Amino acid sequence: AATIIDGKARALRLRAEVARGVEALRAETGRAPGLAVVLVGEDPASAVYVRSKGKATREAGMNSVERRLPAETDTATLLALVAALNADPAIDGILVQLPLPAHVDAAAVLLAIDPDKDVDGFHPVNAGRLATGMPGFVPCTPLGCVMLLRDVHAHLAGLDAVVVGRSNIVGKPMAQLLLAESCTVTVAHSRTRDLFARVREADIVVAAVGIPGMIRGDWIKPGATVIDVGINRTDSGLVGDVDFASAAAVAGAITPVPGGVGPMTIACLLSNTLDSARRRAPVGLIAAGPIGASA
Ligand code: NAD
Repeated sequence: AATIIDGKARALRLRAEVARGVEALRAETGRAPGLAVVLVGEDPASAVYVRSKGKATREAGMNSVERRLPAETDTATLLALVAALNADPAIDGILVQLPLPAHVDAAAVLLAIDPDKDVDGFHPVNAGRLATGMPGFVPCTPLGCVMLLRDVHAHLAGLDAVVVGRSNIVGKPMAQLLLAESCTVTVAHSRTRDLFARVREADIVVAAVGIPGMIRGDWIKPGATVIDVGINRTDSGLVGDVDFASAAAVAGAITPVPGGVGPMTIACLLSNTLDSARRRAPVGLIAAGPIGASA
């Protein structure tokens, strides 16, 4: 039976490490990192995410700045707020909680965020940096997945990886990160033919689809590592994109849902924010590490 990858414990370790880094930065510069979260409207799920991000930020010793705006806020007002946060030296990271109301030009708002404060890593400049191997911000969910994979595999180079899903926030950056680890990467998606056969050949399977239990045990190569990004609400509770019971019988290691990838996402957000503050610290004071170095 597979090793169950404990993302919750791993995330707690990362958060403790970030908290120590925050304390060290504060001791040297007199300033704690600041993360601004912008929430427009009353979407209940978004409100929950924003609350938990704020709590985790404060627990890591950082300043959390929450800007809540009414649902009718227009694009110009949001652009002005983003410009003010870009210019604010107390702010190291800016998150705009998605989805934005339909009347807002979401692409314009995301493009307006200073790429060097874009701790979500969604700005095209950061996507380009990731694709070309330059330091930047990597989207938190795939960054967390790679950390979990590094714990399982001392050497990722040369392994066959299949990423199922090609979204800008999970699938594509996940594929780039695995490529940077020298895996041989296949990106599968809704138009892929014979998905089963491709998954079946992979040493590493990352599922980011949004279809409950789609990938089953008989798809998995014996001993493979399975990272389940999916979070699907069903009548029987939260489930992933992988059918856990059948996959765990075949895999070498597998993430549960919940308690796998999910907790790593917020921990990586905190880690990105600390990295941003380090890069912004006066030159020579703090040596800024490369992407994900704090793990
Ligand atoms: P998305 O809807 O943007 O993308 C889904 C992808 O799956 C698409 O690229 C599509 O081509 C592919 N797909 C759809 N049907 C398919 C099929 N039948 N076969 C193969 N591929 C298919 O979703 P997303 O934002 O990338 O999120 C994916 C899942 O991950 C969702 O369940 C989401 O809730 C979850 N998620 C979890 C976290 C986390 O922190 N754990 C973060 C982000 C997203």
